[in-house]
Amino acid sequence: MREAVVEQAVKTYFIDKFPQFSVSQQCEIYFGTKGGIADVVLHQSIKDEKGYFVAIAECKKWPLPILRGRAKAQLKSYMSATNTRYGVLAVGTDSRNWEFCENKYNNWFAEINREDFEWGIENWKPVPAGALNIDGQPKHRTSPWWKRIALTFGVLFIVSLASLLLLWPDPPEPIVYITRTGKKYHTYTCEFLVERGVEKFAMYFDEAEKNYDPCGICDPHRTAKSR
Ligand SMILES: [Zn+2]
Repeated sequence: MREAVVEQAVKTYFIDKFPQFSVSQQCEIYFGTKGGIADVVLHQSIKDEKGYFVAIAECKKWPLPILRGRAKAQLKSYMSATNTRYGVLAVGTDSRNWEFCENKYNNWFAEINREDFEWGIENWKPVPAGALNIDGQPKHRTSPWWKRIALTFGVLFIVSLASLLLLWPDPPEPIVYITRTGKKYHTYTCEFLVERGVEKFAMYFDEAEKNYDPCGICDPHRTAKSR
C-alpha cells in the first residue's frame, strides 16, 4: 500500500464529511528554521487563499513504517506551527485505525474520538494565534497595567538613548592663540596677551602644539578652556 492511497482516503473522508471546507494536499509548513509538508489539510476556503487550517492529516501506510510516537510528534509539530485545532494520524485506509487529536494549545494535545473530532470541526471557529489560554479558551489580550508602563518606559529609554547618540555634538576642537612674533601659544584670556594688547591669531591646539610651546602664565590645555 502506498502512502498516496491513504492520502486519497483521508481526502475523500474530509470532502464527504466537511463540504463547507476545502481540502489541499502536500502543504508546506514552516516552523523556525525547519519546515515540513503536511499530507492533507482541511482549511477554510477564502477565494484563492487557504485561510485558517481546520485539520491536518498525517498519512502513513499500513503497517506503520516508523514509530507511532514519531508520527504523532510530526503531526503535532505541524499543528502547533499552524495553530491548527484538529489532527488525524491516518495509518492505512481503514479509518478504524486512524487516531484523532485536538490541539488544546500551548503544546497540549488531547486524544479524542472520531465523534468529537467531527463535532468539533462542525462547530469550528477561527481563533487568532496567541489568543488562547492553556485550556484552549480565548483569553483577555490586554496585559496588566504595570507591564504596559514598564514597556512604555523601556521604549522611551531606548529611543532617548538612541537620539542622544545620534545628536550628541562632537567636542569642540580646542583653539589657542599665538602672537605675530612669540614662540608660545596662549588661551584667549591670557593675562600676558591682554595686558600688552598684542594682536592674537587663532590656531588649532594640535597645530600649535607642534610648532610652539605652551605659555607658562595661562597654561593652555587640550580642553574647551583654551578657547
Ligand atoms: Zn599665556
